[in-house]
Parts: sequence; structure tokens; C-alpha cells
Amino acid sequence: MTTKNKVLILMTIICTTLFLILFNPTISAQVKGLKNYCCSKCGTHIESVNQPFMGNCKEGGGHSWKCLGEVGEKNYQCSKCGLVVKSKDTPYNASCKNGGGHNWKRLS
Ligand SMILES: [Zn+2]
Ligand SMILES: [Zn+2]
Repeated sequence: MTTKNKVLILMTIICTTLFLILFNPTISAQVKGLKNYCCSKCGTHIESVNQPFMGNCKEGGGHSWKCLGEVGEKNYQCSKCGLVVKSKDTPYNASCKNGGGHNWKRLS
């Protein structure tokens, strides 16, 4: 085998690995450390690595973001506000816009 061929094979392996990491949602979520955040005032949900910017909440002032834990493959729904999040484990019992904490039920 020539050196050129070895380099080619090595490049292919590296590219395939990178592709799998970047385009596999599960792995990439874990690599990036994505977390679920939910505004306790308006119920808006977003996935973010860091605490999101406050922005403008439709309920007035800035959003009041509560962390719900790491993004994962399981679906959970809050029986109070109907919010569905993809989470690694049962999401945190952070404040629900409908009062008290979210009441999570596993969907899948
Ligand atoms: Zn809000
Ligand atoms: Zn809720």
C-alpha cells in the first residue's frame, strides 16, 4: 500500500467520525451540552447550551428562564401547560406558567 493510499484511508475515517458526531442529534446534543430552558411566565421553551438572554417576554419584562435539565431522546409532557420537551431524564420540576412546578409525564 502506498503512503498516499494510507493517508486517503485515514482521511476517510476522520471525515466519517466527524460527520457522525456533527450530524447525529443524540451525540451532538451531548457534545454541545444542550439543555432545555422554559420561561416560567409565558411558557416559551428553547434548547440552549447556556442560560438564554432574557429578551422580551410577552407577559411583560424579560423572560424568566428556568433550566429543565439536559436535552435527550425521551419525550416528556407537562400535564399542566402541555409543554413537550426532549430530555435525557425526567426534567426538573421548575416553575410552570400555570402555577407551581411542571408535572412531567413520559410520552415515549
Ligand atoms: Zn417569557
Ligand atoms: Zn408546565
